[in-house]
Amino acid sequence: MTFLTDMFQDLRIGKNSIHGDQTQVRSFQNESHLNALSEKIDQLYIMNLAALELLNELGVSRAKIQAKIEEIDLRDGKADGKIAPQTECQDCGHRVSKRRTHCFYCGAKVNQLGF
Ligand SMILES: [Zn+2]
Repeated sequence: MTFLTDMFQDLRIGKNSIHGDQTQVRSFQNESHLNALSEKIDQLYIMNLAALELLNELGVSRAKIQAKIEEIDLRDGKADGKIAPQTECQDCGHRVSKRRTHCFYCGAKVNQLGF
């Protein structure tokens, strides 16, 4: 009986060890994704800073920039500081990836968040 109990415990220990290894791999992957996101945020911050400084040099007021930010925020119908990209083309009705700026099927402009 002790033999069976020991065997089951060994199996459980082995299974938990595998789960621990998998968790460690996921943790490493998450850390890697986090670092990539952090780098993208830094790049976006620099780009925004450059744009704001150039606008300031061109005489665009903070109030006008703030009004534009609010207008863009409302493009998805909600003033929540977030942008919900279109999920379907308004011209042909096909589903559109959130990352696309043009419909894959008909070429219509979608997700007009950029330039
Ligand atoms: Zn389309």
